[in-house]
Amino acid sequence: MGSDRSYNPFHMAQQQFDKVADFLGLDQATRDLLRFPLREYHFSIPVRMDDGSFKVFRGFRVQHNDARGPGKGGIRFHPQETADTVRALSMWMTWKCSVVDIPLGGSKGGVICDPHHLSLREQEQICRGWVRQVANDVGPLRDVPAPDVMTNAQHMLWMLDEYETIRGARYPGLITGKPVGMGGSLGRTEATGFGLVYTLREALKEKGMKPSETTASVQGFGNVAQYAVRLYTKLGGKVVCVSCWDQEDQKSYAFARKNGIDLDELLSITDRFGGIDKKKARDLGYEVLPGDQWIDQDVDILMPCAMENQVRGDNVGRIGKRVRIVAEGANGPTTPEADKVLEQREIFVLPDFLANAGGVTCSYFEQVQSNMNYFWTKDEVLGRLDVKMTSAYLAVSELARKNKLYMRDAAYVIAINRVVEACKARGWA
Ligand code: GLU
Repeated sequence: MGSDRSYNPFHMAQQQFDKVADFLGLDQATRDLLRFPLREYHFSIPVRMDDGSFKVFRGFRVQHNDARGPGKGGIRFHPQETADTVRALSMWMTWKCSVVDIPLGGSKGGVICDPHHLSLREQEQICRGWVRQVANDVGPLRDVPAPDVMTNAQHMLWMLDEYETIRGARYPGLITGKPVGMGGSLGRTEATGFGLVYTLREALKEKGMKPSETTASVQGFGNVAQYAVRLYTKLGGKVVCVSCWDQEDQKSYAFARKNGIDLDELLSITDRFGGIDKKKARDLGYEVLPGDQWIDQDVDILMPCAMENQVRGDNVGRIGKRVRIVAEGANGPTTPEADKVLEQREIFVLPDFLANAGGVTCSYFEQVQSNMNYFWTKDEVLGRLDVKMTSAYLAVSELARKNKLYMRDAAYVIAINRVVEACKARGWA
């Protein structure tokens, strides 16, 4: 994962945008406005490490577009983080909030670091240092961060605490993905994985496929993958393979079992980063396959739920004949080159910024609850999430059908149009 140096996610995001900008006939100034972020912050975060030494971490916040509302998007902790990755992810956040029609713009943040090698105290210092650098540029009415790859509710709470200390007042709407009971929303942890399966459920319905007669292979075993597996299995589907990054070997492995994986059993041998113990998995009857063999599985549905750049020109040909649906839980898992192949093969793609929008949609609900200081029940949250995801899916699939568009392009048409309208209404384009 992430070892291919020639790959640039920002170029990929721009390429996807350009294709739809041509289709929509957007003028040059509007393209210039939307092909690049409005603002970016790059900064250093000095941290006193546990051994007394100092280390400086590189941090980012990129605000792609806030025409539809305050910026929104997660903060990733990753050793291979780059400015261009954060730029791409901020742009995808703009389209994501737009396609599900929530009144928020697109942002993303990151820190180049590897939490595998950091104590909790060191991670806390990075969180607080990150906030100190951008305290004047984020906020409930400007830009609202959230968790992402390798960050969680605890990180969000440290960030909130630092911000509130600086401001001298409580601002629970600063950040989402907070712990439940500390301004967090019930259902936020489940939201991205569940949202993915809500859209998948609708796609299966449209195709006349019963979930209980389908099988799936899932890439990843982090927060998104775990909850996607949970709900898909509850609907009757059978997951025969999951995969994860192995920290010790510095490569990924697929864990396959023909009669289906058992989520709780696997969770009991998984670390907090989603790494599964290979030896224990073998003892439980799983085949442990090195590399990206999740993609070769003879299944109906593939769910890439890990990182960007995972379905590429060099491996898309390995997708089996039986595969009908690719449901993207990750951000940017499929490259434009691989997209062409999926489109030709008429594999139905649930594009990332639609399919994984459940997280940010629930973040929006969390903000609303935080600002009102009135919290909803879990059923209420998940019920509203289902309504939002289902109606966004139906709008995209209807447009795709009517105009014979590839699903990703149809989602882009709806999302970009809304943002363009907001920019034009404000007099920006
Ligand atoms: N990091 C998540 C995403 O990529 C959620 C963002 C949010 O909740 O603001 O969609």
